[in-house]
Formats: sequence, structure tokens, C-alpha cells
Amino acid sequence: MENYIVSARKYRPSTFNTVVGQKALTATLKNAIAGDRLAHAYLFCGSRGVGKTSCARIFAKTINCTHRTADGEACNECHSCQDFNSGRSLNIIELDAASHNGIDDMKALIEQVQVPPTDGRYRVFIIDEVHMLSTAAFNAFLKTLEEPPSYVIFILATTEKHKIIPTILSRCQIYDFNRITINDMVDHLSYVAHNEGITAEPAALGVIARHADGAMRDALSIFDQVAASSRGNITYASAIENLNVLDNSYFERLIDAFKSEDVRQALVVYSEVRDHGFDSLFFINGLAQYIRDLMVARDPLTVKLLEATDDVRLEMANRAQSLPPEFFYRAMNILGNADLNFRSSSNKQFLTELTLIKLCQLLSPSTPAMTPRGS
Ligand SMILES: [Zn+2]
Repeated sequence: MENYIVSARKYRPSTFNTVVGQKALTATLKNAIAGDRLAHAYLFCGSRGVGKTSCARIFAKTINCTHRTADGEACNECHSCQDFNSGRSLNIIELDAASHNGIDDMKALIEQVQVPPTDGRYRVFIIDEVHMLSTAAFNAFLKTLEEPPSYVIFILATTEKHKIIPTILSRCQIYDFNRITINDMVDHLSYVAHNEGITAEPAALGVIARHADGAMRDALSIFDQVAASSRGNITYASAIENLNVLDNSYFERLIDAFKSEDVRQALVVYSEVRDHGFDSLFFINGLAQYIRDLMVARDPLTVKLLEATDDVRLEMANRAQSLPPEFFYRAMNILGNADLNFRSSSNKQFLTELTLIKLCQLLSPSTPAMTPRGS
């Protein structure tokens, strides 16, 4: 059997152009390198899995590359690049402050700072989760950050920018990484699937991307998991089953039931959901999210708040048009209350069914002050 490499590792970007979802930021970094306008310290901010550490490694490799491409990328062929790619380069030092945050870890790092590069131009020190350094480690680091040797570049990364003190912020060039959009993730997952000889329905990749909550690394791990259990043929059905996600078709049927004030249909759908082993609170929150998504999809101004592929956005926008805005506000209010009352309720099934009944009555003419449908 050939060696299996997990996708998150196999498809880790090795050039700025292969970083997913951070085009503007990587272009700026490339320009700074090409123009030799390098700062001594950078702060990379953003949630987990958006490419901060990958970009820091690519940056370190690119500034030391001896034959950068016309496009400003590392060549991946020169001696320095090969050392970087094989993990042998002495010009990159990484400290994970989440697990090594003490003064001794910092002292070891500062000692390294004093050593000039034997090969290449710069030594790059990456401190991940820099906000987790202990106070003593932090103070020791500040002195070095104030006057680093000319060959040293610090790249600090954090998921919690608000915890970084002004003394650090003022000494760093700050880069804010975006959450990766569903479209970008689906594109990248399609590319990986194609490369791996795996067939995948776009809707299934959408489910995976959404489950990954903005983190490309997580999306790739989930992709591997679903690919393994669906034997190389990732369908929408296999993805939702594998990830234990509620199929949107339940919610679509519920919306139809609310529109036609069909309480019986709503209760039947809920019963099916329970038969599939889903918890009632999970169901209430899933429905709340779906209704919220429909609401933002309904208006061109808010449709960008819907984390979905363009196809899904269009489909949900069409579905939402037949419902008045007030329906969404009231439905969200009812579902919000159901969520709040859930834990204290002694009969959770009753609470959920009552919630569905209220939702079925929302469009009833006897419910006052609702604007007509389609407005
Ligand atoms: Zn190179």
C-alpha cells in the first residue's frame, strides 16, 4: 500500500499563490519582498486554519530564496529553498507559545537571535499564539523586539489580536487574515478531489466547507474523513450522513409547512428528524440558522452574510422571496425563545412541537400586522 499523507499536509501551500483565500494579503507580502521593503516584525492575525503559519513559512523561504521567480515566488529549487522544504533550514525558528510560553523557552529563542545566518540573508523567528507568552517571557522578548539584529525578522501570529498589547502592536506591521469563504474552500476541495481521483458533488463539498467554519485545514481533514468512508465517491448524502448534519431538505419542507399553515406536516418532519437520531435542541438551532440564512439571502445587501456557494445563495434567495421580512423576525424570535427555554423545560418534545405550531401560525391572517406575502 502506498504511503498515505493526510490532505491538510499534502496540500499545505508552498508558494504565496497556492495559499487559499488570502489573495490581497499575499500580493502585498510579495510586493514588499520584491521591493526589499521588509519590516523587522510582522503580526499575523486571524482565526485558526486561515493560513497564518503557512504564510509565515513561505515568507521565510521566499526572502532567503536566491532565484525568486519573475512573479516574486520562491523557486523551490535553490539550495536554500530545498533546505526549507525538507525542514533542514537553520533560517527558520518556530516557537509555539501555546505550549512553550515560559521564560526559559524565550531565553533559548533570544540566544538563537544572536546567531547570524551562515547561509542566506535572514533568520526568521515565528512565534505562534504570541498572546500566550507568560509575562516574564513577554518582557524578555520586548527588549529583543525593540532592537533586533539586522538579519532577524519576527513573525508573530495570534488568533486573539485584542490580547496583544500596544507596545507590540506599534512595533509590528499588522496583517489581518480573512476567514476563508465557502466558495474558496469549495474550489480548493474540488482541486484536491480532482488530484486524488475522487469524485465529489459540489453540494457535498459545500457541506464540508461549512462544517469547517472558515478553517482550510479543518476542511481538508473533514474531506479525508468523508472520502474514506464514502470510498472515493463523495455525495451530498454521504457527506451529511458522515458529518451528522441535518439535511436542508427537512428545513425546506418545514418552510413549506409554515407557508401553508400545515401543522401536521411540520410535526411529521420533526418526528422524522428525531427518528434519525437528532436531538431536539440541535434541530431547533439548525432551523433557527436556516431561517436566519433565508432572511439574509432575501436581500441583495445582506446576501454576502450567507456563508455558502453562489448556487446555494441564489437558491435560498429565490426560496425566501415568497415570505415577508416580518416572518423571519418573528420566527427567529420564537426559535430564540425556544432555545432559551429548552434546558428548563420538563417536556422538550412538547416545547419543540409547540414552537413548530407557533411558526405555522405566523402567516395566518388572524396573526395581526403582518404585511401581505411577497412584499
Ligand atoms: Zn529558491
